[in-house]
Amino acid sequence: DSSNTKLPFQAEVAQLLHLVTHALYSNKEIFLRELISNASDACDKLRFEALDHPELYEDQPELDVRLTFDKAARTLTITDKGIGLSRQEAIDNLGTIAKSGTKDFMSKLSGDQKADAQLIGQFGVGFYSGFIVADKISVESRRAGLPAEQGVRWVSGGAGDFEVADITRAERGTSITLHLRDDADEYLNAWKLKQIVGKYSDHISLPILMEKEEWKEGENDQPGDMVKTGEWETVNKANALWSRPKKDITPEQYEEFYKSISHDYEAPLAWSHNRVEGSTEYTQLLYIPAKAPFDLWNRDKSAGVKLYVKRVFIMDDAEALLPNYLRFVKGVIDSADLPLNVSRELLQESRDVKAIREGSTKRVLSMLEDLAKKQKTSPESGEGKIDVGSGESVPAPEPTEAVTDVVDKNAPTAAETAAAAADESGKYAKFYAEFGAVLKEGLGEDMGNRDRIAKLLRFASSTSDAVTVSLADYKARMKDGQDAIYYITADTLAGAKNSPQLEVFKKKGIEVLLMTDRVDEWALNYLTEFDGTPLQSVAKGAVDLGKLQDEAEKKAAEEAAESFKPLLERLKEALKDKADDVRVTTRLVDSPACLVVQDGGMSTQLARMLKQAGQ
Ligand code: ADP
Ligand code: MG
Repeated sequence: DSSNTKLPFQAEVAQLLHLVTHALYSNKEIFLRELISNASDACDKLRFEALDHPELYEDQPELDVRLTFDKAARTLTITDKGIGLSRQEAIDNLGTIAKSGTKDFMSKLSGDQKADAQLIGQFGVGFYSGFIVADKISVESRRAGLPAEQGVRWVSGGAGDFEVADITRAERGTSITLHLRDDADEYLNAWKLKQIVGKYSDHISLPILMEKEEWKEGENDQPGDMVKTGEWETVNKANALWSRPKKDITPEQYEEFYKSISHDYEAPLAWSHNRVEGSTEYTQLLYIPAKAPFDLWNRDKSAGVKLYVKRVFIMDDAEALLPNYLRFVKGVIDSADLPLNVSRELLQESRDVKAIREGSTKRVLSMLEDLAKKQKTSPESGEGKIDVGSGESVPAPEPTEAVTDVVDKNAPTAAETAAAAADESGKYAKFYAEFGAVLKEGLGEDMGNRDRIAKLLRFASSTSDAVTVSLADYKARMKDGQDAIYYITADTLAGAKNSPQLEVFKKKGIEVLLMTDRVDEWALNYLTEFDGTPLQSVAKGAVDLGKLQDEAEKKAAEEAAESFKPLLERLKEALKDKADDVRVTTRLVDSPACLVVQDGGMSTQLARMLKQAGQ
């Protein structure tokens, strides 16, 4: 057959396939979740394209996913009536990895199977996970709208290459047949398959069907066996998880749903599920992950919130739904008000989307405030009064719209119940270690919520190596007469702590916040004061310790300035291309000299960063 072509996998795919079959071995059954989720995505895509082209449904408007297996042939087949694949799409989508950051991801793999398995899980191996249990996969498909003769068969043994051939296929959509490995017998069993569907795919809004079986006694001394009846039954709940009442959803189901949309192995730190009513109506189910994805800093990575309109999937990376500094949040927003054919451009302008974005932002911030409140504070940060794990109920945030529980307003949510049961005390620190630097971007990005974000920030300080000091903690510990919050930025904690600019503060016992995140310098430009107290970099301008400096010290400094005048003039002359000014200072105790930046000038730290970036 001349249409039969053998093609090599993209190098990254070949590499990934090797890893998949080795590293993911201990969590084999996720292959079914991935293939069902692809089938569901394909149906979502069909629905979406059919909004403008209803003829794509052909004569088959009902969408479902069917699981069948053949014990004798040792095959398991997943069939959908979704959008299908053209020949070229099969080549492109099943032979390469289009995800952004693929190269970056590959370079992070260490060869340590356990660590790699975690990374691969996050990356989402998707279709290729079939090769965990299969030594050959055969995909037959026809894209919606194409004639039957333009079907495609894609076959691969999961090594270096795959084959594609033209076929005739009457049915629209895709059938994926796994030729199971010798040790994957367990998936030739209806009970086992139902169990996996229940665990991972219950929330899929499409019906997942399996053929009913019944017991048949064996004849002539042959053992009996289960035989197919030709009748189909739905084996999942088949309604979107977020559309169900909270009280019907277990914490495990919330967690599994999170894992399925995030590809995360770890359970999320927190989630919030609400139906928001008011001028704009929508359901939100938002999660705070426990671990940063490998591509958190990748600028063009897709956002984590999926947009649905009345249960119809619209788009995956709807940046318009949450500000960029909350890009770590995963979840689903389902709007009742947006038009089904909403485009990206329209999203940017829609007033409903603006309301959703504001409401969701507030919701995330209140989830974080909640975690922060339950965080056990470390002894050196002075607070430590909050009794953690007491199961106190979570105060309602102040939403702009009415937020109603899906069924019962006053019952604790599953999240709250789970939260009360689990040890909550370390969660905020965990969150902060992973995402604190991202959150800081919000100071510059989201003026409306700047105060709330500022309260969520935590820093190390000259009295605490741990990143646990809030601005409020700091203020509560300020010395009499101190009228600014002092901070220093540096590349490392050691660098900050040993800076000569800290000497006078140490001597006077004044706490200084130590900032070592790369974004601090930029972000702190946007935070000039906290709760009425100005923030002041100790590396900028002439540090005026105001009332903290006694008269004698001031006088000594003035006299010194006077008597050193000739020396200062000579130094200024010698350094005239390198320094704007040379002056006598009171900020040093042990060091003879230090560099400072003019008030309002670019800090040394920022200057260094720009230099590194080649500017
Ligand atoms: P992802 O789902 O994250 O895009 P996968 O590896 O799971 O990655 O799938 C790769 C691509 O293969 C999908 O994006 C899609 O284009 C195509 N694909 C996989 N399964 C199907 C299917 N059942 N129907 C149509 N296309 C599919
Ligand atoms: Mg997928």
